[in-house]
This record gives sequence, structure tokens and C-alpha cells, in this order.
Amino acid sequence: MLKKIFLYNGIKKNYLNLKKIKNYLEEKTGFKIEIRDEFINYCISKISVEEEKIKLIDKLSDDIARIRIINPNKKEIERIPHPIEINLEKKYILKWAEKPIGNFYNGFELILIFSNLIPKEETNLKYCHIVFTNQLFGTWDEKNFRYHARVVVFGFPTIISTTGLVEGPAKPREFYLKKQMGIDPLILKEEFKGRFIDYEDPRITEIMKGYVMQAIFFHLFGNPFCSDKNCRLYNAHWQEEVINAQLKGDYEFCGEHEGILKKIKA
Ligand SMILES: [Zn+2]
Repeated sequence: MLKKIFLYNGIKKNYLNLKKIKNYLEEKTGFKIEIRDEFINYCISKISVEEEKIKLIDKLSDDIARIRIINPNKKEIERIPHPIEINLEKKYILKWAEKPIGNFYNGFELILIFSNLIPKEETNLKYCHIVFTNQLFGTWDEKNFRYHARVVVFGFPTIISTTGLVEGPAKPREFYLKKQMGIDPLILKEEFKGRFIDYEDPRITEIMKGYVMQAIFFHLFGNPFCSDKNCRLYNAHWQEEVINAQLKGDYEFCGEHEGILKKIKA
């Protein structure tokens, strides 16, 4: 059974309060939760031999540069990155907090890279690793033939993106219609305020509680989702669905999932 959940803090900004999320999870599930530093830097810090560290950082810079999605309409991303790109990745591995959010990465490939970094003794299902980042990642959408930005990609570890929360789920249809009509996006943002999540939105911490719960359900049962639109495990594709499931519902979890949580805690 699950012994411990690790939350890796790759944000360290006021809009994401991992202590609140930790307290929430402990209360709801009874599992032990540990907050750790940004994922890559945490894993690197566990390596004691300096030469190995340098080698690993070189490899990581190359691996991460390789999984950038340059053209979201093209499924194959295999390419040789330019040395400038690799050097930039290297610079930001060491100074992750300064890394801009303009890049778009393949989410499943990112999980593969991360999976190899987890300390050996914690690479089994007794441990659940959840990585928070502001970097944007996506997965290939077989219906639309393009990469879509995601809030979360489940795996070992599960990765969750605050930028994905803003860019992934779609804004209201009228927003896009009015944008096409040429209305200033700033005016639109004001008009649609509250109906979508914005950068550094103060509601992000509350919303992320639900996504972390999805990660835990994925870890325990292989299925993170619920069909009830008011349950925090609902797989939302629209911003308004996210807001409804995570902030506005009459209840946090549907009867079935509330029941499972009670059993887990007991
Ligand atoms: Zn449910």
C-alpha cells in the first residue's frame, strides 16, 4: 500500500500554497505527505559524486531540449536540438526559478525523463511522486491531430502544470468568437473575469487540491476520473468546468468517491 506522497515544489510563488494542499490531503486521506524542493534539483542533490552530477546535468539538458514541441500539428518530435537550446536548458536546470514559460514539451516524454531521476529506493508503488511545475507540456490529441496543453499528465511521477491550467482547458466559446471579431483581449479578459483561470490566479491552490486527488486516484486505482461534473475528479475540458468541479460544486466529491476516501482514511 501507499506509504508516502511527495509533492515537488517547482513554483514557490504565493498563488500555489503546497502547505495548504499538504494539510488538505492529510485530512482527507490520512496519507503521509512530504513537500520537497523543485523535482530535478531535488534529485540532483541526492547524487554525491560531483562528476556524476555534471554528467547527469549534461544529459538532462540534451534530453529535455529534444522533447520540445516546435510544431504542435506534427506528431513526431524527434529532432536534433540546436546547441543554444541545450545550453539554455542547462542554464535553467541550475536556475529553475528563472526559467521562462514559453516552451512547450511532450508530457509523456517528460515523465519518462523524470522517472529515471527518482531515487532508486523510492521507485515503487509505496511512493507517489507529484511534480508541480510552471512549464507547459502537452499530449497528442488523436481526434484533432495536434498537441494539446494539459494541466496534468498521469504517470510515475505525475506532472501538474499551473501554466497548463491557464492554457489547457478552453475558455468560454463566446470569448473566442469575440476575439475573432477583433475585440481587445484585455477588454475580453475583463468581460469574462471569473469564468476562466488567469496567471497567478489566487484560486489556483484550491483548484490544485482536486488535481492532486486525481493523481492519487490514478496511483491507487489506475483511474483518476469521475463522470460527475460536480466531483473534483471530473475530467474538465473547459475552464468553466474546472471552476465548477473545483470551486462551485455543492459537494467536493460524489457519493462514490467520498465513500472511497473514507475507506482509504480508515
Ligand atoms: Zn466522483
